[in-house]
Amino acid sequence: MRIIVVGSGYVGLVTGACFAESGVNVTCIDIDINKIQQLKNGSIPIYEPGLEDLVKSNIEKKRLTFSTELADGIKDAEVIFIAVGTPPGEDGSADMKHVLNVARDIGRIMTRHLVVVTKSTVPVGTSGKIRTTIQAELDKRGEPITFDMASNPEFLKEGAAIDDFLKPERIVIGIDNDKTREVMSRLYMPFVLNNHPILFMDIPSAEITKYAANAMLATRISFINEIANLCELLGADINNVRKGIGSDSRIGSKFIYPGTGYGGSCFPKDVKALLNTASDNGYELKVIKAVEEANDYQKTVIFNKMNKFFNYNLKDKLIGIWGLSFKPKTDDIREASSIVMIESLLKAGARIKGYDPAAINEMKKLIGDKIEYSRDQYEALVDVDALVLMTEWSEFHLPEFNRMVELMKGKVIFDGRNIYDPTQLRQMGFTYFGIGR
Ligand code: NAD
Repeated sequence: MRIIVVGSGYVGLVTGACFAESGVNVTCIDIDINKIQQLKNGSIPIYEPGLEDLVKSNIEKKRLTFSTELADGIKDAEVIFIAVGTPPGEDGSADMKHVLNVARDIGRIMTRHLVVVTKSTVPVGTSGKIRTTIQAELDKRGEPITFDMASNPEFLKEGAAIDDFLKPERIVIGIDNDKTREVMSRLYMPFVLNNHPILFMDIPSAEITKYAANAMLATRISFINEIANLCELLGADINNVRKGIGSDSRIGSKFIYPGTGYGGSCFPKDVKALLNTASDNGYELKVIKAVEEANDYQKTVIFNKMNKFFNYNLKDKLIGIWGLSFKPKTDDIREASSIVMIESLLKAGARIKGYDPAAINEMKKLIGDKIEYSRDQYEALVDVDALVLMTEWSEFHLPEFNRMVELMKGKVIFDGRNIYDPTQLRQMGFTYFGIGR
């Protein structure tokens, strides 16, 4: 079987590499010439554990190729995945320009029947728009070629993307005929041998399932953050409360860790897009709207604690930041809470030394030398007035506290992820601030 994946970012590259691993011949396409050149050389433009090895071995086995030209490979392909970005437009709705550009390109050059699969997260109705766009190009060419549409939203988590793709809990596929069902079943067969289900459904349901999943997860995060903030006012400890509610199997323990607010390339934009879809259809999603408001507030909580601690005078204070990525095991900083923290600190006149195991280059691309970057976590502590932990990378969990006491001028820790033991730190002479404890 031969397939094409258009868009070779976090989702497209993982999709391409994992299908290649299952024996399929895959061509990954991207308009970014540098990215494709880098990939052809077997080097990975993003940080994702396990991906480099998978890409390299499948290049060697000649099952995975890269190109900037969609025409390369399209004549023999059975399935084409669209996995380009769908960033928020100015009004918060998902911007479909990249997706529709790809649809136009497909219509212009396809030479045989294709199943066109949307893997990008797209609002309900997008498959219909893609279909119309491709058909319009075929009509211009006077070509009687047929094609089918499918919607196959992706649920992988950055940092665990390979495992999530190879062993998915479920695969959601929206289709509108049995022929497409047969093609997609064949393609995904190796990934469901462990009885993970493929959930076939109609296309609009598949499209909204992705948004509903992300909105649900974002809701859990905002919910626990609100309870944490309340715990703090009441003298309770959110860690106890979290365990207390998480052991109820109706609730479960995942996604109820308080922190500095959700970020990343998905939750913020998908929550916004879902709100937009609802309002376009004359409906207000009251819960989801509150989730977003609560999250915006949460991104300010640790900064406000710090500001108060320094008597609302952060001018010339030197602050060390551990963790810049929006979560551990990724270099992705899109909508990361660290960005809001950095902006607030700089506005207040503070100076910053930042360290992250993977995301420093991405942060440099975004804000350049507005902050100082450290080579390791301890260098980021030299002479600082306080440390703020923004991302819970594993190497931050058990640092050498004695060394930290020596390096830091001010022994103050703002723990944005509640990973430290407040009692232990206070005994060592630190002033400790967490969230909801
Ligand atoms: P990304 O920004 O990492 O990658 C998108 C890629 O598409 C870029 O490399 C870009 O150059 C390329 N591109 C844009 N226009 C193109 C065109 N016309 N032809 C070829 N390539 C083109 O984005 P991503 O994080 O991989 O996300 C892609 C989609 O998947 C989004 O809709 C996102 O919401 C969804 N998604 C992302 C994740 C995640 O964790 N990142 C998880 C599930 C779903």
